Amino acid sequence: MTNKGNMAGLSSAEAKKLQEQYGKNELTPQKKESFIKKVLHIMCEPMFLLLIVAAIIYFILGEPRDGAIMLIFVIGIISIDVIQEWKTDKTLNALKDLTAPHVTVIRNGKETTIASADLVPGDLMMIHEGVKIPADGIIVKCNDLCVDESSLTGEAEGVWKVNTENAETTSDYWRKDYCYAGTLVTQGTATVLVDKIGTTTEYGKIGANIALAPDEDTPLQKQTKSLVKLCAGIAAVLLTLVGIFTYFNIPDHEIGDRIIESILSGITLAMAMIPEEFPVILTVFLSMGAWRLAKKQSLVRKLPSVETLGAVSVLCVDKTGTITMNQMKVQGTWAMDGDNHSLCETMGLGCETDVYDPMEKAMLSHCDSLGITKKNLFSGELITEYAFTNELKMMGHVWRRNGEIVIAAKGSPERILTICKLTDKEREICEKKVSEMSKEGLRVIAVAKMLPQTEEDIPNTITDCSLSFQGLIGLADPPRESIKADIAVCNKAGIRVVMITGDNGITASSIAKKIGMPNSDKIITGDELSNMTDEELREKVKDVSIFSRVLPEHKMRIVKAFKDNGEIVAMTGDGVNDAPALKYADIGIAMGKRGSEVSREAADLILMDDNFTTIVETVKDGRRIYDNIRKAVGYIFTIHIPIAFASLLAPMLGISPAALFLLPLHVVLLELVIDPTCSIVLERQPAEYDIMERKPRNPKEKLINSKMLLKSVLQGVVIFATSFATYFTVLAGNQDNASLARAMGLTIIILSNLFLVIVNSSDHDFAVKSFIRLAKDKVMWIVAVVTVLGLLAILYTPLTGFLKLASLSASQFIRAFGIAVISVFWYELVKVFKNLKNK
Ligand code: ADP
Ligand code: MG
Repeated sequence: MTNKGNMAGLSSAEAKKLQEQYGKNELTPQKKESFIKKVLHIMCEPMFLLLIVAAIIYFILGEPRDGAIMLIFVIGIISIDVIQEWKTDKTLNALKDLTAPHVTVIRNGKETTIASADLVPGDLMMIHEGVKIPADGIIVKCNDLCVDESSLTGEAEGVWKVNTENAETTSDYWRKDYCYAGTLVTQGTATVLVDKIGTTTEYGKIGANIALAPDEDTPLQKQTKSLVKLCAGIAAVLLTLVGIFTYFNIPDHEIGDRIIESILSGITLAMAMIPEEFPVILTVFLSMGAWRLAKKQSLVRKLPSVETLGAVSVLCVDKTGTITMNQMKVQGTWAMDGDNHSLCETMGLGCETDVYDPMEKAMLSHCDSLGITKKNLFSGELITEYAFTNELKMMGHVWRRNGEIVIAAKGSPERILTICKLTDKEREICEKKVSEMSKEGLRVIAVAKMLPQTEEDIPNTITDCSLSFQGLIGLADPPRESIKADIAVCNKAGIRVVMITGDNGITASSIAKKIGMPNSDKIITGDELSNMTDEELREKVKDVSIFSRVLPEHKMRIVKAFKDNGEIVAMTGDGVNDAPALKYADIGIAMGKRGSEVSREAADLILMDDNFTTIVETVKDGRRIYDNIRKAVGYIFTIHIPIAFASLLAPMLGISPAALFLLPLHVVLLELVIDPTCSIVLERQPAEYDIMERKPRNPKEKLINSKMLLKSVLQGVVIFATSFATYFTVLAGNQDNASLARAMGLTIIILSNLFLVIVNSSDHDFAVKSFIRLAKDKVMWIVAVVTVLGLLAILYTPLTGFLKLASLSASQFIRAFGIAVISVFWYELVKVFKNLKNK
């Protein structure tokens, strides 16, 4: 590599050239399904095979015109499907890009963030704690870099890395001055010169056989697929029956005709009965749902999560930053000896010199307001530091300053007090003060210091120190403004909010009370949790919602306890150690702003604004999407009933094949209307007003329950009865009137279809209300207008003849319209009863 040591990185042009040469940094190259393949795929669906068989039969029958119309319809349906699939693909790919891992590199001499897939050999990448390393590379510069390489070597212990200049030559296969793709930075930072990418990395070599699992069907998709299969099975039986009936109905026809007619009526029925829209609906609804969520700052990483979201019953959230604003402020200080200035100076010395933690930022700005500047604090020499760990919950810095050595320590009072020299009396005063400040909802930090004589006297660990206690700092981190309202929404919606925090219990409880969490006085501390068995914890979590002094590994047990109680758990997390809990939760939520790369990778959902309100909104949307899927499925059921019954009943009533209500042509025509109506219109339905007033849905419940089925069947049967009766009476009046009878019946079905959307768009709201709401949506109008224009076209243009229909007179049209209104709007009465009962 020519630019080794050159810290300017690549230029865009060089990177582009290298990418052409080496390809993308991917383990499995992305395959693109070609357009032709997609069309072929759609055409292999049973529905299309049926259509094509029907078209061929028409051609054989010597009715090429019918065959041609049929083919045109088939092309229409294929186009709709291809467009839909293209759109969902595009949506899903866009989402994938949004959630794909990114990495910071130096390009054109500047720090730039690029997709990890665009890394090329020669890039200089910057890595830091929480990053999953995306490529193999040589460490050019490093600072306390510790990497977890267990995914490659199986070695659980972190590996401390060195930069390549300091590396000793060893015969070890795994190098200390080298970073490997797929491993995890647990501490420190480094600049790495990318050497190998994609399948040529060490990880890629073993990864070839653990290639990414293919996208699995979601539970709903599995449910509907088996439903479609069931319907197809029933259709096959009925198809045979109808075929046999037709055959015996027309003994006067030639044998060849008899066979062909029976095949045709069988096919009509089968087409009418297979709800092939179901799987399409699901993918469209879920991916569109994910897309809408992305616009609202929450990125779904896996499609099934959209389904699960609506069923969430427990929300476990970190207090700091999610419930609170993560804008800390020093609210009060208490110095034991009254010397606040000295207390604050020690506090400042205990902070990182280049701060990022909001709490330390608050501390330094408080120092600043007292005239203790950063320059003032950090001009000495930092001899060593005791790093903060979640277990210790304290840290310290050792400074050589103004000719003396100072150990400045700060941390949770419980811990700091254990390493301070205090009399029992003093200790008692301190503890009282801590509890006093905590009760105000403040995070209390204890500050202590020590002045060793020489460097030899500096203890090795912070726990070996013997400090003199200086005082307490109270920090306020105000709850987010909307949090109280959000908690109220969750309470109503039967969703339990559980607060998890590293802070002490009193502080947590005080904040819980402020924001209106129920049971705010019941707390489980991390220590208590450690001593509990899984069974005890499972009992406890039934009414305790606050966990304080929690360590990341406790989160896993908390999720497990709730899950074992049958809850659907969403859990937030941002740290490297949160990844297992995020994976284990039904919905793992990572923070887009402050979260680590690893937590994002483990999560199902990434919250771009780290805001609790967005979580609640997302759950609400999950419920809405599920509702709409149900509405769409119900609608498809309903509208298929008249079609299926008509094609079943007409041959059985001995109606001659030429006079049948629905010929294959008409079934296809109806399919053309049903598909877009449902996937466009029902997908857009806004949430019902009571959507956050119901309990979470039972995750075990089937998509189609008996209540829904009853509603659909009733609605469908009524539409069938009215349309078929109309057709039958017109036909009974005059056997030659088949085309008029059919036109009347078909008009009723198509109009009912339109009305049904309005009536079923809400379970409680009356159609008028839904209509006013829907009338604001342009897309709704487009669908309605196109449907009506289509109806007029098949009734009043040359198409009428082609489709074996007749034009309706004005009075006939009005009659059909009226009948359609009655056959759908009767359901409004049911709503009246339901609403009365609910009151
Ligand atoms: P949370 O889970 O609420 O974000 P943390 O895990 O960040 O809480 O912190 C837990 C506790 O550790 C705090 O209440 C505090 O006592 C202590 N602590 C956190 N950060 C620091 C720090 N930079 N210096 C000293 N103590 C700290
Ligand atoms: Mg924190």
